[in-house]
Amino acid sequence: MRKTILLTLLLLTCSGVGAQRPDKRQEALRQRGLGTITAEAARAHVYFLASDLLKGRKAGEEGSRLAAEYIISRLREQGVRPLLRDYGQPFEAVSRATLGRARWFVEPDSVARVKAGRHQSLRLRNILGVIPGQRDDEYVVIGAHLDHEGMNPLLEGDQIYNGADDNASGVSAVLQIMKAFAESGAKPVRTLVFAFWDGEEEGLLGSRYFTETCPYINKVRGYINFDMIGRDPKPGNPSYMVYFYTAAHPEFGDWLRADIRRYGLRLDPNYRPWDYPVGGSDNGSFAKKGVPVVWYHTDGHPDYNQPTDEPQLINYEKTAEITRAAYLCAWRMANP
Ligand SMILES: [Zn+2]
Repeated sequence: MRKTILLTLLLLTCSGVGAQRPDKRQEALRQRGLGTITAEAARAHVYFLASDLLKGRKAGEEGSRLAAEYIISRLREQGVRPLLRDYGQPFEAVSRATLGRARWFVEPDSVARVKAGRHQSLRLRNILGVIPGQRDDEYVVIGAHLDHEGMNPLLEGDQIYNGADDNASGVSAVLQIMKAFAESGAKPVRTLVFAFWDGEEEGLLGSRYFTETCPYINKVRGYINFDMIGRDPKPGNPSYMVYFYTAAHPEFGDWLRADIRRYGLRLDPNYRPWDYPVGGSDNGSFAKKGVPVVWYHTDGHPDYNQPTDEPQLINYEKTAEITRAAYLCAWRMANP
């Protein structure tokens, strides 16, 4: 008889009753992180990054370096460690000497070839933080570009391309997701890398350099990208957003549908599964390496690549809501 009771207890512990506890605990940790994501934080990040002080965050210039220092201070504040020896991943981009729009190379072989001739050079720096997972042989990367178009001194009137939507909004999302994971207290299964790319506007330079030189790129199980997540281009539908994802992973679409229902997210996504998502933004660098990608976006608008892309035109409630959806997506990706 006693044996039977013991066996029953053992079975109960190993099945339903006992197994629920870790799930509940995980859910509590996930909720704790989710609760840290706010519209106010999105507003604070974007107003600083897109202020005139940063002069449009042109790659290689003082404004983008200030943006990078701001990001580093936020990583430090959360106790999120550098991925490399330092938070910065410095690299050089080179192009053949030209008076027109330069074509930049960052791949080490190409850099050596171009440097053999008359060339121009850009010294750039990605910012990379890491939250180690239970496994150090599987990664999820969450990223946004920190640079923008700088200034045009020939313009009459406003000469600063503030880039509030493009892409201070995206940087705010990565910063908030980094904080949410840090404050959740959970240790994800996969290792999380938080990436802030330099030189995107010059041709995805930072993400290209990272994916070309990363020794474990074939162990990156997913990349989540943000580029322009703050505007309302569809009149009367402030919940509108565009959700690009690798078509071979239909679960990425299912996750968003499920999370919108479960958490009551006020989002109305245009789902766009994409066979080979190499266009538009830094997702391209990862897709070319065979990494499944997700890209959050709120579509083009008349202020795109204009000095009028300013912080007061951002819908911060929506930016935060997209950030919440992406945090939940990252949680699923990091805990398969
Ligand atoms: Zn952009």
